[in-house]
Amino acid sequence: MTTIKLYNTRTRSKEVFTPIDPDNVRMYVCGPTVYDRAHLGNARPVLVFDVLNRLLRHVYGDDHVTYVRNFTDVDDKINATALARKEAGAEGTLEELVQQRSDETIDWYHQDMDALGALRPDQEPRATDFIPQMISMIEGLIAMDHAYEAEGHVLFAVESYAEYGKLSGRTVDDMIAGARVEVAPYKRNPMDFVLWKPSSDDLPGWDSPWGRGRPGWHIECSAMSFELLGESFDIHGGGNDLMFPHHENEIAQSRCAHPSGDFAKVWMHNEMLQVEGKKMSKSLGNFFTVRDLLDQGIPGEVIRFVMLSTHYRKPMDWTAEKTSDAKATLSKWRALTKDAVAGEVPEALLAAVADDLNTAGAIAELHRLASNQEAPALKAGAGMLGLLGQDLGGWVAIQESHDDKIIALMLARRDARQSKDFAEADRIRDILRSAGVKPMDTHAGNMAWEKTADFDPKKLEAL
Ligand code: AMP
Ligand code: ZN
Repeated sequence: MTTIKLYNTRTRSKEVFTPIDPDNVRMYVCGPTVYDRAHLGNARPVLVFDVLNRLLRHVYGDDHVTYVRNFTDVDDKINATALARKEAGAEGTLEELVQQRSDETIDWYHQDMDALGALRPDQEPRATDFIPQMISMIEGLIAMDHAYEAEGHVLFAVESYAEYGKLSGRTVDDMIAGARVEVAPYKRNPMDFVLWKPSSDDLPGWDSPWGRGRPGWHIECSAMSFELLGESFDIHGGGNDLMFPHHENEIAQSRCAHPSGDFAKVWMHNEMLQVEGKKMSKSLGNFFTVRDLLDQGIPGEVIRFVMLSTHYRKPMDWTAEKTSDAKATLSKWRALTKDAVAGEVPEALLAAVADDLNTAGAIAELHRLASNQEAPALKAGAGMLGLLGQDLGGWVAIQESHDDKIIALMLARRDARQSKDFAEADRIRDILRSAGVKPMDTHAGNMAWEKTADFDPKKLEAL
């Protein structure tokens, strides 16, 4: 069986992965807050953990993996949109308008992530469907003196959990010094965080032993992962911006509420997608959405390829150059594998993916297979990364149906040149030129062309 090694943030080392139960390997990934379109940074964890999901399924079997990713649908920004719509005269109660906003955002999320070839997780729980479970977890924490009620709030007492801060390697004092903690008179320690808070009458709320209110963000993941995966599961993932406080707080809540469990054994964190050295984020305003790119005619498969070209534990930038290189590579590989039937997943490629998701190494291996014209292996290996599949094949048809024809001509021209039949190569070049396609000579094996202003797809079709 393939040995999988994963970098565990908790132990700060790359470890051999041994599932608790190989018949049911369990993974939880923190999902989006569904108030708006996902930006490109949000797609990074989706794609990273999609590759891990595919790898686990490959190794342990499709029916032996449970992948859960939540939707956070309790949020001020969702409420704000609903409220604005209500004020603008929209029909329905505030609760209905909140639900409508979450529903439409979840639909967008599905469309956008499907377009990137990400498999849907086995379960996608919504926080609002698990409020009673959150309430009962909070009650348990209060009963065990890990939490206390104060002025309609319930707070987790960080001093009641000796290991608080261990994941991110901080002490409570460091955290107080470094964090923007909300100072509130009713907190025993400034780091104590909210498990439950009151809701005003004009906002969604649920009845609880502490009055009408709503859960804090962190308790959502603790309650949903416990309900769906149990008190000990294998992998917990998310972006490294969530390590503190979100994951630290999840650990404290879950370990204290279920002391006999381990919560998550392996913690994995992807690095950030950046724009000019800064994390892409809604709050900095330096973002564009996945939908923006798709609407610009950049195929989802190209976005996926660019994203997987950098190791998940390294920061990465999005550039136009990476996009056009990826497009050229994928066009070439699609042409090469057009009639190929996928073979076995090549060992070297599998070893790269299993080595802490070395997707960049796996892509290097795909380049090698492509230059050796090993189409069945290329197809199988690409499939392991979610590339060159039927589901994503649509981009050739939707985006540029004529590329197929261009690629075929480019390949024929390359073959002619390789066999030194320069008359034939020139003839093909002239055909391309007459349709407004300018072949460009790049280094060996790398096909590139430019469509000039005279590009006439009809001419190409007629050829
Ligand atoms: P959010 O909706 O902000 O909680 O984010 C959803 C997921 O996207 C989380 O796993 C975040 O860590 C991740 N994320 C947010 N911004 C970025 C970014 N710029 N690069 C990579 N991952 C990100
Ligand atoms: Zn979470």
